[in-house]
Amino acid sequence: MVLNRLDHLGIAVKNLTESIAAYTALGLELEGTEEVPEQKVSVAMFPCGESRIELLESTDPDGPIGKFVAKRGPGIHHVAFGVDDIESTLERLASSGVRLIDKKPRIGAGGAKIAFVHPAATGGILVELCEHGAGVPGHETEE
Ligand code: ZN
Repeated sequence: MVLNRLDHLGIAVKNLTESIAAYTALGLELEGTEEVPEQKVSVAMFPCGESRIELLESTDPDGPIGKFVAKRGPGIHHVAFGVDDIESTLERLASSGVRLIDKKPRIGAGGAKIAFVHPAATGGILVELCEHGAGVPGHETEE
């Protein structure tokens, strides 16, 4: 199996502070927040079993989350699957004709290597592939 776990659900929100309070009230525990300038977002991570909930607030109306919220409103933005080797997974998908947004991985929240599959490949769901470095997913291992 290549996609070996549901890594996280990415949820676009309008206001990170309010959404953190809402998800905390549900009973999730905030792991931390981080700004990811390449994606023009502020991110909050809530571990949930082996998966996580990733809340994304846009820091720029022209960023991907800003555009998504303007067009479709807040809600589920992407589904992320964990992979052990993102480069070989992307090569395999590309060679089997799966439409990709990213042919090469980029760096996402927590320093993970990430890449997006085009939503046309899955009938409308944006899929993220996510390879974490050694150590616990979502945690930096370098001091
Ligand atoms: Zn994500």
